[in-house]
Amino acid sequence: MDKKEKLKHYDSTIKVNGPYYNKKQDRYFVQYVYSDKTKRVITYAKYLMEQFLKRKLSNEETVDHIDRNRKNDVIDNLQVIDKSTHSKLDAKRAKLIEITCVLCGNKAFKEANNLRGNSKQGKAGPFCSKSCAGKYGVEIQNNRMKELDTQPTVESEYYYIDKSAVVVKSENTVDLKSTA
Ligand SMILES: [Zn+2]
Repeated sequence: MDKKEKLKHYDSTIKVNGPYYNKKQDRYFVQYVYSDKTKRVITYAKYLMEQFLKRKLSNEETVDHIDRNRKNDVIDNLQVIDKSTHSKLDAKRAKLIEITCVLCGNKAFKEANNLRGNSKQGKAGPFCSKSCAGKYGVEIQNNRMKELDTQPTVESEYYYIDKSAVVVKSENTVDLKSTA
């Protein structure tokens, strides 16, 4: 499929459904319906970028959330990068933090994001496992244990993005209603 054909395909969109929240993937999606009744499901982020660029993204292009929050689907937070770079970035960013379980003392590795989230929510911890977190909950419920302090927050693990990989950086915002 050459570029012209792709654009034609994009232009044959007759309907856009969504955005829909997908709980399992924890992000938003939309569905394109084309004039020949074929459908294409893409992330809402990708949809916004395609509307912004007024073209369909290629298979090598993927939309990256600059702030790492996959639900923050606003055009200012989105950039197009190539897929191989994206997976490399995500792999790097997935670096885990070693914690010591406040209940059993075991060491475990956790995502910094999750640790920060739990701390922000005022949760006790960190725990090595769901099992330990569950045990703690039961102890508290039955008044067998004093409530522990909110778990400390951890330093943000931020990795440098290779700027040369950035193809497009958005500059304006797009109103969904005016483009859908
Ligand atoms: Zn534990």
